[in-house]
Amino acid sequence: MTYSNPMGRVEWEAEKIVRLRRMLMAWYERSHRDLPWRKSSDPYAIWVSEVMLQQTRVAVVEERFKAFLERFPTLSSLAAAPEQEVLAVWSGLGYYRRARMLHRAAQFVVANCAGVLPQSSTELRLLPGIGAYTAAAIASIAFGECVAVVDGNVERVLYRVAGWETGVRAGSAALKRKVTELAGGLMDRERPGDFNQALMELGATVCLPRNPLCLVCPFSPDCHTRGEHRRPPRPPMLSREVAHALAVRTNYTTAKGRGAGKGRARGVREVLLEQRPASATVMPSMWELPQLRETAVPDKQLLMAVRHAIMQVNYYVRIRTVAEDKVDVLTQAGGARRWVPLRDAGAMALTGLARKVLTRARLLPAESLDPPEDVGTSAQKTEADAG
Ligand code: SF4
Repeated sequence: MTYSNPMGRVEWEAEKIVRLRRMLMAWYERSHRDLPWRKSSDPYAIWVSEVMLQQTRVAVVEERFKAFLERFPTLSSLAAAPEQEVLAVWSGLGYYRRARMLHRAAQFVVANCAGVLPQSSTELRLLPGIGAYTAAAIASIAFGECVAVVDGNVERVLYRVAGWETGVRAGSAALKRKVTELAGGLMDRERPGDFNQALMELGATVCLPRNPLCLVCPFSPDCHTRGEHRRPPRPPMLSREVAHALAVRTNYTTAKGRGAGKGRARGVREVLLEQRPASATVMPSMWELPQLRETAVPDKQLLMAVRHAIMQVNYYVRIRTVAEDKVDVLTQAGGARRWVPLRDAGAMALTGLARKVLTRARLLPAESLDPPEDVGTSAQKTEADAG
């Protein structure tokens, strides 16, 4: 098979394809990271890891993957769980729509496929929230289907190796098609899952967006770029200002029963949380701190200022403490509110911002902090897999 780029500079002869494949697989054998999901052959576990890796850093996924599988060890246990519990266990990974779709797809598989995950990428794509990327990843890694997985990492590697810089626009559909075709031609048909992981691993650890490590790259002798390529400028981030109330009280009523007969009751510390509407386009049904009526918080009353990025928006958030009897006056009327014992708040489906604020205020332990939601991630999936 021979491929040529639009500029006619690269010819992908059979010999070169074999050489690139061999070099890549040898490099992967000796250099791949020891990640927990790579030790599993369970299609369900592989599916969970692939969904988590979309738009979340590998280090964060490493921490959360084990906890998620401990709580939901099988596809049927995930399907049977209430959505709020799934969101709570997902907490810390951000992009909660992925958790909802994963949950919905698990229920679909239980209801329509006798609880068994389909094996081909074509059938997997029929499940809610599974797009081309996830279907190809599960089918190749778990079931050995020869189908190319193309994420942002793979796209970057092949774009650079082929030297397509002046021929195909980065990020375009035309590029995706060409990369998919090229990756399919390069594929190791004996080990499609390992091949796909090797190409993604190369992009994640060697062919980095900035300062790629070309001197240790197995593709270096054949690469037509050997360094960073020109990229179109990123759209600028938008900025918004918002303000939230942190209302904490000590509830002695709850503690009375427990403290009865043992002297003074100690009380239970509670925080006021508000549930976002189920119809909200962003983070529906998740719990957040009530929003203040006034965005401007005088310095004297400012507890903390936090920057929180979601997609292309930087939120500059001001937080003030609000006494229980001032909540109605100072906050906007919103969704359902609940005073939640602090010891239970960490296990709720909190928004990333609420978790960040409660953690910084030392009301939640530090390990429950959400990752940032804006930055380029290890995986940089370009597929709209969330469906
Ligand atoms: S040689 Fe450099 S630019 Fe080319 S694929 Fe390897 S790391 Fe990327």
